[in-house]
Order: sequence, then structure tokens, then C-alpha cells
Amino acid sequence: MTYFCPMARKKKFHLFENIEVIDTAAKGKAVAKSPDGRVIFLSNAVPGDIVDVQTGRKRKSFFEGKAVKFHTLSDKRTEPVCDYFGVCGGCKWQNMKYDKQLFYKQKEVTNNLIRIGHLELPEITPIAGCEDIYFYRNKMEFSFSDSRWLTNEEIKSGQDFDNKSACGFHIPRMWDKILDIDKCHLQEDPSNDIRNSIREFAKNNDISFFNPRHQHGLLRTLMIRIASTGDIMIVVQFFEDDKEKRELLLNYVTEKFPEITSLQYVINNKGNDTIYDQDVIVFKGEDHIFEEMEGLKFKINAKSFYQTNSKQAYELYKITRDFADLKGDELVYDLYTGTGTIAQFIAKKAKKIVGVESVPEAIEDAKENAKLNQIDNVEFFVGDMAKVFTKEFIQQNGNPDVIITDPPRDGMHKKVVEQILQILPKKIVYVSCNSATQARDLALMNENYKIIKTQAVDMFPQTHHVENVVLLLKR
Ligand code: SAH
Repeated sequence: MTYFCPMARKKKFHLFENIEVIDTAAKGKAVAKSPDGRVIFLSNAVPGDIVDVQTGRKRKSFFEGKAVKFHTLSDKRTEPVCDYFGVCGGCKWQNMKYDKQLFYKQKEVTNNLIRIGHLELPEITPIAGCEDIYFYRNKMEFSFSDSRWLTNEEIKSGQDFDNKSACGFHIPRMWDKILDIDKCHLQEDPSNDIRNSIREFAKNNDISFFNPRHQHGLLRTLMIRIASTGDIMIVVQFFEDDKEKRELLLNYVTEKFPEITSLQYVINNKGNDTIYDQDVIVFKGEDHIFEEMEGLKFKINAKSFYQTNSKQAYELYKITRDFADLKGDELVYDLYTGTGTIAQFIAKKAKKIVGVESVPEAIEDAKENAKLNQIDNVEFFVGDMAKVFTKEFIQQNGNPDVIITDPPRDGMHKKVVEQILQILPKKIVYVSCNSATQARDLALMNENYKIIKTQAVDMFPQTHHVENVVLLLKR
């Protein structure tokens, strides 16, 4: 009798020497080829590097590996500004010059549309890059932990790390290990100052940090939102209900940072640290902040979604509005409307906008913001798109002339695409944060729609993420 023991499977690791890194791939990986022509995905190289590659176990038709020796460093490289580059996992492309980041983002979008979608593309307009390539985020979330991740350098230094309290980011794939951060280059000041001050005050005043493995400790997470209006929101999440320590800390924050306009907290003793099912309590100031775009005000509370790069969201919305090219008499559907920002942004140019979104709180915000902005030609509906966007819904709300769709990374549900193909609006503007699923969806619509324009937009410099906006016209 024979039986298969997975542990006995032969592990084959390879060392390939003097290999040129030739491209980038999904998820921020770099690409090289083995001497027999198989693709190797690398986690730590830049196109143009010449490296020795150590592979892990071979997958079906490709390898995954790591550069273990660098013979030549690519001229596409730049020195990462951040001390935590390579450990943090947040800004994988910080070692690549920004114009090269844009080149590879553009390339990925075009490749996906051609290779996955088999689509015929118009002339490609150059990707819209960011003016600010650092400090562009309006929202950051940090975690506290009593089991700080020590870097190789820290371990080698022989220094004594008695107090392992940390506030920063999760180490990739290590849910209980936090990299302590002193300076993150993604959010403007006073972001770093606030995080560091809270951490130091807590350490000096015996306020305990969370231990996710054993589920104890007081300080759990910290969210900092700095709006373009100057409003600042802080939400501190505690694991335990310790009034004395909580007030000690929050009073300190109030005094040290009078510029904070909304200081809130959550007491969450659940297993996970999402605050979306928790009460958020105001300690000082308002329960919201305001963002502003082209004179429109958006009220944002602790749970609201708002595009995290405000400046570039404005560019993305302008492109979307240009592509829609509304004349004023159109009925527009804004699918996956979130807090209704695109709907409100284009409202003046259309007869009516219908927004649909699955998160009830987002729709509450959308309605409130529309009222605040005195926009009365928008209507919002809550529900899962595949269930809400039906024949009956369209009979009730009218056949749209234009559909704007901005789905999450998974793209549109097949039923949603089928429904669009049932009603065949003249024009579709498809905003996507994942050009692979966008390509898949566009392929399904290819028989009925022609791609007129496609425009990549970079919202997240130093990462491999890229948005893409496509204009489709009915054939
Ligand atoms: N257009 C908005 C948000 C885009 S993000 C903006 O620019 O701000 C995608 C949105 O799709 C999110 O708000 C998410 O909650 C929503 N969503 C995700 N899955 C959904 C589904 N199955 N049905 C409806 N909305 C969904």
C-alpha cells in the first residue's frame, strides 16, 4: 500500500546566480527569469538589479524567491526615506524612483486590460501622478502591543529591551507583532508627535499595552485623521474599562494637543479590534471632522469612509466627472457610492443621481452630507449591489443614462454586470482600484461597449496600488 505524506514531499530550493530583474508584477513583486525561462517572483528587488536569487518551493509554473546577493543595483532605485523600509511592509516601492513607480503602475494597468480582458484600447493617456509623494494620507491607524517586534539590528546591538511596549504597524503576516514607529512618512504632523507622545506618556505612567495573544492590557489601537480643513480626529481604543487611566491619558492628550478638534475613545473587549460594531464615545470636542472639496463639505465621523488621499481623490473625481461629461439632463447611477462623494461631486451637472452602497452608516453620512451641501437631486439606497440593483429597482428609479461604478477590489458581482447589460446605459465610467478585476468585468461588457478612454491615477505613492478610470460608450 502506498500513501502520500505531505511532509515527505521533496523540497527543492534553487540558487540562480547573476540574474537580471526585468519587471514588476502584482502585489509589488519584482520579476526575474530562471535560466530555463521560468518566472521568479521576488519580494525584495527592483527592475534593473542583477542578483543571485534563492528560491523557495517551486509553484506550478513559477518560483517565488528572494535576492540574496546584489551584483548591480538598478538605476531605477532610490534611497528609501524610511528607517523601517523592508520591515514594515507598508511602502514596498519606496526604493524605486517615483517616475519609475508610475511607469510600472501604468504598465500593470495596460497589461491587465490587454492580457486579462483581451480588450482593444484607445491611446493611453499618461498616468496621473501625485504632487505629494509622502505625507499624503489623511488617516492612519496604529496598534499598541506589549510584544514589540525587534529588528535584526536591534537584536544584534545587544541592547536591553526590557520594556517591549510598542505603537506602530503589524509586521506582515504576524498578527501579534508590532513594529514600533517613531516616524512614518505617510501622514503630516502632528501625526507622529501625537502617536509618540501617547506611547511615551503611557509607558511613563504605567498604562499597559495590549497583548493580543493573551488578550490583556489597556491600550489597543489609535486612529489619527487630519483633514484638509485642519480638523483633527483622534480615536483611542482601549481593551479594558479603566476610567482612571483612561482619563489620565486623554486629559494629557487634550492639554498637549489643543489643535485636536475631536477626541474620542472606544472600549472594546472583543477578540478583534474593529470598531465598526462598537460605541465611539466623545471625550472632548465634536464627534466628527469636516473634509472639503470644491466647496462641498463632507462630515466624517469615526466610522465613516473617506478617500485617504484627499488631494488625489479630487483629481480622481475630476477625471471621473470629465469622463461622464454630463450635460445636465441625465439620470446617473453612482454604484458603490460609499458616503456619496462622487454623487455629490457631479450633482450640479446632472438631473438626478441615484447612489447605492452596502454600508448603512455610509449611506446615513451620504444623506446628511447631501443635506449639508444643499444638494437635493441625489437619492441614496442601502444594500448589497447584486440584490438591490434589480429590474424592479430600475423600474422604480428610472433607466440611467450614465452609470458610474466604483466597486471594491473584487470588482463587480457577475449579476451586477448582467444587470448593466440588461439596461445598456449610453455611457459607463468605471473607477477601479484593481485593474485585474476591472479587466475581467470590461471583457464581459466588450460586446456592447467600446473603451473610449482609460486613465490610471496614482493615489498611493510608494506602494504598488493604482486606480484606473475607464470611459465606455455603447457600441
Ligand atoms: N465611490 C466611493 C467609495 C468607493 S469604495 C468613494 O469614492 O468614496 C467601494 C465601496 O463599495 C465601499 O464603500 C464599499 O462599502 C462598497 N461595497 C462593497 N461591496 C459592496 C456590495 N456588495 N454592494 C454594495 N456596495 C458595496
